Amino acid sequence: MKSSDRPPRKVIPIAAATPDPSAEGEFVSLYEAQKKIYPRSISGYFARWRWAMVFLTQIVFYGLPWLEWGQRQMVLFDLGARRFYIFGLVLYPQDFIYLTGLLIISALSLFLFTAVAGRLWCGFACPQTVYTEIFMWIEHKIEGDRSARLRLDAGPWTFEKIRKKFLKQAVWVAVSLWTGFTFVGYFVPIRELGPELLAFAGGWQIFWVLFYGLATYGNAGFMREQVCKYMCPYARFQSAMFDRDTLIVTYDEARGEPRGPRVKTVDYKAKGLGDCIDCTLCVQVCPVGIDIRKGLQYECIGCGLCVDACNTVMDKMHYPKGLIRYSTQNGVLNRWNQSQILRHVLRPRVLIYTAVLVALCVGMLVSLTTRTPLKVDIVRDRAALSRIVAGGKLENVYRLQIMNATEATQRYRISASGLDDLEVASEQEVDIGAAESRWVAVRLQIPYGSAPPGSHAIHFDISALESGGKVAEKSIFLVPR
Ligand code: SF4
Ligand code: SF4
Repeated sequence: MKSSDRPPRKVIPIAAATPDPSAEGEFVSLYEAQKKIYPRSISGYFARWRWAMVFLTQIVFYGLPWLEWGQRQMVLFDLGARRFYIFGLVLYPQDFIYLTGLLIISALSLFLFTAVAGRLWCGFACPQTVYTEIFMWIEHKIEGDRSARLRLDAGPWTFEKIRKKFLKQAVWVAVSLWTGFTFVGYFVPIRELGPELLAFAGGWQIFWVLFYGLATYGNAGFMREQVCKYMCPYARFQSAMFDRDTLIVTYDEARGEPRGPRVKTVDYKAKGLGDCIDCTLCVQVCPVGIDIRKGLQYECIGCGLCVDACNTVMDKMHYPKGLIRYSTQNGVLNRWNQSQILRHVLRPRVLIYTAVLVALCVGMLVSLTTRTPLKVDIVRDRAALSRIVAGGKLENVYRLQIMNATEATQRYRISASGLDDLEVASEQEVDIGAAESRWVAVRLQIPYGSAPPGSHAIHFDISALESGGKVAEKSIFLVPR
């Protein structure tokens, strides 16, 4: 078909092709630009708890890697040497079961706390919450409270604005880098890390300090509530763990509505008003920018700041506190008192979670305290499966990795059993340094012809002479035809 034969293309004017946003029902934007939230600071019971948790978690996080245990760092995850030091424990990759146990306990704890008290973790202990709180505190100290920050952002770029913004960014960067440094200090001895970084030695260390620092800066300085809203999966599946007897931050609609402003001296009940004066203070303090009066929303991190804000207002109005409060949906609906609410909180699934959690914790503690601080791996020497040696003996060669998980040098005795006249022809006692592992070549011999051809189950016994621990490991002894 010649181009001249084709039907002329229909040209749509741009104005017609682009739907008019003002024409209702024609244009729906799938993207809503993020609005910056300017939370107002508030003091009160929950705000104090939040700060207590900030101090507690950060004293532990920043302080722990600087503490010593004997001659070494108290908590160190030495990935290079494949050894974890936790207080008096020296764990090897073979102790992975404890990490699995710890993860199961953490997951179960999260289920239990969520079933009992909603998003306690999110509101008070999650690193995203804690660092956002620290970064907002810095912002508040440098740029002022909500109204001052709103004015500053809306105003022109003056010298004062540049000074404040620069200072805030500089302090944020310093906190982020220190956080990255501390984090890496859990994997590399922290006292050696500083000099290494200053000398620009250790490329990986520099990379991870910058990476973790950047993540802290981005998440706590800029992303903030968006991490909780759009990135964290916990916010999405928490509703599966909630029920009507879960403690959550709730607005007492029956008491608060109809909301509206009023004069303090006028009897608002006679005018048909509820207790909510519609001051929006609860919305202004909310770090995720929601209005709790619209009911439970997945964005709510359960921080309780709106409770503090509303209680302040109730105090000023001389109304009873608790228009917004920590309660359960059933508690608010049935107007239960505290003991009635608590009785319903202790429901079967909470008791089951608690029982399983306690059993797991006890099991893990018993296992940790009774574990033998000795690990052994056995590898058969594939180059020499079986051979006849001087003296008419048949020999099999093995490599034993002996891991000393104590803080002192240990002498270990190696013996083997499972066949008549089986003996260790190589070194029978070895010394292994504190928290070290060593490969040891072991030769086992039997008199030639004392066992029929085939593969025979045997086991090695490795016993610590000083500490008394003992480990038995299975292997096989090959007799050729
Ligand atoms: S702080 Fe209390 S009184 Fe003010 S709007 Fe919120 S719920 Fe109503
Ligand atoms: S609604 Fe209240 S409890 Fe929920 S995030 Fe906002 S301030 Fe915190």
